[in-house]
Amino acid sequence: MIRYVQDDNLWCPYVICDHCNERIEDAKQGNALYNPDKGIVYFTHKKCNHAWEHINHAESSNGSRACWFADELEAFILRLGINLAMAKAEGTEGLSVWVGVRGKILML
Ligand SMILES: [Zn+2]
Repeated sequence: MIRYVQDDNLWCPYVICDHCNERIEDAKQGNALYNPDKGIVYFTHKKCNHAWEHINHAESSNGSRACWFADELEAFILRLGINLAMAKAEGTEGLSVWVGVRGKILML
């Protein structure tokens, strides 16, 4: 979940792991999980991902068991910024790919 937490008298937005309820301090250590039928997003540390999925079974729209899709948290945040017209990777205008902050090619 995303939650505002008071930190040194400032309210700051943090991503909190939906499994262990600890702050995800490094985007490289987190995942954004979603069930494509429902679209709700959850966040976990990568180390908590498997345990969270084991407890929280995804359901498809017809009630059958489905799997969770996952994006690395770093990619999720970048894609969110692009979808809010806040960021664009250079040279990718009109393309269906963009480049993450560490040069990794990611699909949209
Ligand atoms: Zn965790």
